Amino acid sequence: MGEIGGPREACGVFGVFAPGEDVARLTFFGLYALQHRGQESAGIATSDGRSLSIHRRMGLVSSAFTEDDLQRLPGHIAIGHTRYSTTGSSVPVNAGPFLVRQGDEAIAVSHNGNLVNGEELRQELLAAGVPLESTTDTEVLAWMILRSPGRDWVERIRSAMSRMVGAYSLAILTRESLIAVRDPLGIRPLCLGRLDGGWVIASETCALATIGAEFVREIEPGEIVVIDERGVSAHPDPAMQAEQAMCVFEFIYFARPDSAIMGQRLHVVRQRMGAELWREHPADADLVVPLPDSAVPAAIGYSLASGIPYAEALIKNRYIGRTFIQPDQRLREQGVKLKFNALPEVLEGKRVVLIDDTIVRGTTSRPIVELLRQNGAREVHMRVHSPPIRWPCYLGVDMATRDELIAAHLSVEEIGRAIGADSIGYLSLDGLFRAIGLPRERFCAACLTGRYPVPVPPERLLRRRSRTQELAGARS
Ligand code: SF4
Repeated sequence: MGEIGGPREACGVFGVFAPGEDVARLTFFGLYALQHRGQESAGIATSDGRSLSIHRRMGLVSSAFTEDDLQRLPGHIAIGHTRYSTTGSSVPVNAGPFLVRQGDEAIAVSHNGNLVNGEELRQELLAAGVPLESTTDTEVLAWMILRSPGRDWVERIRSAMSRMVGAYSLAILTRESLIAVRDPLGIRPLCLGRLDGGWVIASETCALATIGAEFVREIEPGEIVVIDERGVSAHPDPAMQAEQAMCVFEFIYFARPDSAIMGQRLHVVRQRMGAELWREHPADADLVVPLPDSAVPAAIGYSLASGIPYAEALIKNRYIGRTFIQPDQRLREQGVKLKFNALPEVLEGKRVVLIDDTIVRGTTSRPIVELLRQNGAREVHMRVHSPPIRWPCYLGVDMATRDELIAAHLSVEEIGRAIGADSIGYLSLDGLFRAIGLPRERFCAACLTGRYPVPVPPERLLRRRSRTQELAGARS
């Protein structure tokens, strides 16, 4: 994703059950591997079988925990969370995981996703006198589970799930167990791994590899998996609905290229997207240049399919971090200059195919095209390895409102002119799913098609608009 201010992911979740292990430290390293899914805050909660402990702080995983913090998280069960805010603002009280207590019961929850009916459930809880501290869906969801009836956690979670509409992949910590839950459409990823003497759950397989765990399987849509001293017990969705709606942007961009989802290694899938892009939109050019880092696999694919040499001509300052994840628009605008430099020796006199994974607002594509020209590129041909984003996301990705999406208002040719490219081509929906190699019925592609997998109440659109206006007001 070269575009600063592009779609931002809504959290990484992690959990480990491993008696005898330093589970807080394992979770710390697991969160490191999931840092790309959210950079606003990080947190870990642990259980020693008697009580729950928690530490949450704003900032990157590396700065959120000191050695002392990790020492103060005892136990053999842990969950962790890295957050990017899609609901609620960026303040410490909204950092995850969420720990909620009622009587002598307590649970902590890490959540990736977004409830479409979160506001409605929030109002219900407030009316019932529940002391909500934050403005996030995660706290709502934790209280929904804690207050739901049932003989055990599985029944209580199942009861809460019957009220929750939207995307949720959860790691839940109780005193005695680690529980993985995925919404019935499986919108966000969640997988199960085996550790020597324990079990792990994680948003992505890359986090399993980081701590030396072996991938076992994905948590199925609608499934609840309980891990405790008796082992692992799986509780499939009793409705067993055939539909699935995995977010297609996990394949295009969000998930790390070394992760695998639905049996597909994302680096390989993205290479195929690049090859399809060449077939659909060839260019007469001398070099294929990726927007680092996320467009690299697709640029390799485009280069291999076309025979046009691959070149790195944009150098990213990796220490600036993924600035587009920052929720502040001023930082995003500053980000292009802070983030990329170009190599004139590579670009001089060359016709360049510039590969990016998406164009959201279009506000940063133009400076990048200009940067290539200023450094000697004779032509710049923009190629994008996803179809145009024309609709907002209500399922956990801060995609911008419809008003802000450049492809909602301009044709592809107009976008090409607006960003100053000599030509432009987007991968088609057919091409995208040919590259993914799985049936399109198993995916959500609503931001590309406008067909949402869950009903979206019209007031959600208004709420997203007013939040954007709020941010715009704060800037002016
Ligand atoms: S609308 Fe787009 S970003 Fe949101 S879940 Fe669906 S595919 Fe993913």
